[in-house]
Amino acid sequence: MNNGNYRHILLAVDFSEHGNHVARKAGYLAALFHAKLSMIHVLDDIPMPDTAYGTEIALDEYSTYELLEAEKFKLKQVGNQLNVDPARRWMVWGVPGQEIVRIAEREHIDLIIVGSHGRHGLALLLGSTASSVLHHAGCDVLAIRLQDEAAHERPSEDVAFNPLG
Ligand code: AMP
Repeated sequence: MNNGNYRHILLAVDFSEHGNHVARKAGYLAALFHAKLSMIHVLDDIPMPDTAYGTEIALDEYSTYELLEAEKFKLKQVGNQLNVDPARRWMVWGVPGQEIVRIAEREHIDLIIVGSHGRHGLALLLGSTASSVLHHAGCDVLAIRLQDEAAHERPSEDVAFNPLG
């Protein structure tokens, strides 16, 4: 951080129902702080192609290739909406909590923005990815509180947490 301002914000997107609400807030905060905005989507439910001779993917309707293209398209849509430089749109394989923190460290992010809940629903007080990022990140983390009404764009309070503070 510089003079109390965030300079580089990382938005974690999972394309869940409430994702637009989180994305909009990230865009707003990036503009407010004149910060760079990066985004990450972690591929946690698409098998990684790993044949000995390179990438070999069957092209049937439900293939890895099709799924990957669909995820890329969704990331592009959100990135375009928020004017995120294509070079700062990350799509990686792995465990979301771990990869979000790894990329945040590598890219010298000073604020990570996640939704309090994602695709795994509202069963827990805080979703598992959000909780993992809050516990392991070396920078500030903003968890945008998502409740049922967030789907109808009536945001309530957010949860701010500074693991260093
Ligand atoms: P969860 O902990 O799965 O309920 O998700 C909480 C938040 O973590 C979501 O609103 C996203 O901001 C982020 N998140 C979850 N899964 C992913 C993923 N695969 N890639 C990027 N961000 C994710």
